[in-house]
Amino acid sequence: MECKDPKCPVHGSLKTHRNEISGTVVSDKSKKTVIVEHPYTIFLHKYERSLRRHSRIAAYNPECMNAKVGDEVIISGTRRLSKTKSFVVTKVLERRSA
Ligand SMILES: [Zn+2]
Repeated sequence: MECKDPKCPVHGSLKTHRNEISGTVVSDKSKKTVIVEHPYTIFLHKYERSLRRHSRIAAYNPECMNAKVGDEVIISGTRRLSKTKSFVVTKVLERRSA
């Protein structure tokens, strides 16, 4: 199948920035959009403990990537695509969705 998506970073003309984030897809309910959860840790010097936190980022999901819930993906920053979307899925590292 040929990809004719103009907003695809590989086959289209969408330019990506260098800020790449890896995470897990937690929602693929909306069309051509996935919600990616990115876990990170912060260290609190006052208590000498680290905290685990996560951020949820909406990313554009081109047809050729076809990321689904559970997949490990890499997303890249790009121009603002909608009110909440300024990232695009550039690579699927691991397909966990059956
Ligand atoms: Zn494509």
